Amino acid sequence: MTPELSRQVGRVLGLASPPPTLDERLRIEEALAGVDTWDRMPDDILNLLKELKSGHGQRANRLSPVDARYNKAHDKLGKFAAGHGWTSAGSMDERVATTEAALYEEWRVKRSDLPESDVRGFIHRMAVSQEKTAAVVLRNGPHEIRIAAGTIENDPDMIGQVKKASDTLMSVAPVKRMSLRIDPPNSMGGDLGQAGVGVAVIDGRRLAPYWRDKVSHDPTSMPMAGSVIGWKYTLAHEWGHVTAFEANDSAQLNSLFETNKHFLSHYGKKNRDEAVAEAFAEYHLSLGKTKNKAALAYAQALGWSVANYAK
Ligand SMILES: [Zn+2]
Repeated sequence: MTPELSRQVGRVLGLASPPPTLDERLRIEEALAGVDTWDRMPDDILNLLKELKSGHGQRANRLSPVDARYNKAHDKLGKFAAGHGWTSAGSMDERVATTEAALYEEWRVKRSDLPESDVRGFIHRMAVSQEKTAAVVLRNGPHEIRIAAGTIENDPDMIGQVKKASDTLMSVAPVKRMSLRIDPPNSMGGDLGQAGVGVAVIDGRRLAPYWRDKVSHDPTSMPMAGSVIGWKYTLAHEWGHVTAFEANDSAQLNSLFETNKHFLSHYGKKNRDEAVAEAFAEYHLSLGKTKNKAALAYAQALGWSVANYAK
């Protein structure tokens, strides 16, 4: 498969609403192994990709009523079902399947040395172990917030604040697919800001009682980090990763990074992915009022706007 074809298929999968199921992903992956142009794509896979792209037809009928209602509102308004859209997620089995789908793409590439069955077995075990520790899983259409045991699961007020902050970001920067994972301090090695395929991870320490109201003053971050509560900065940064992932335009991100890296935070200088996440956090948390040249350049190039920012 050529990089161009891979990019195009990745874009279809990334924007599909509802997101492709694990089964759909596996069918596409298997077919693509023997194909190098669209002309040689098997008909059934071509049709599946068309369905994923349009988001209509038979796939739409398979949606649960709640998802269908959500997606209709999303398509019509171009924004999130804010305020009332969050519900508790379904059964353990259902959540495991969703998590497997989210992990598959990344791990198929990371472990291309292993046979298909081993990779599937591996991500299945990983998904089961993640779900076991997920004390709270909230869904809003294709969006998800999972909060791991040991952090804030017994704190409705804090959960409410996270939902509200997510609603606000969704109203200005809608993403199609997002799994926000809030982990206890030890499970991610204390690392902040890891992003994968539409997944954002927040270290649970940012939401722990002794930290949750603190301004971060993180010297490696952008100027706004000195004015906002730490976990809100992290949330905005992770959101930036997911919007960039969905836009999937590496050439543009490379060029923005090269032109603007001198004006970015220490962390933003690391690579083009951290750069866009840092610029996003700075721009949105300042409600577009930042003077930072990099944040303003990214906002203009990528069409960011704070016009609809929820009050
Ligand atoms: Zn990051």
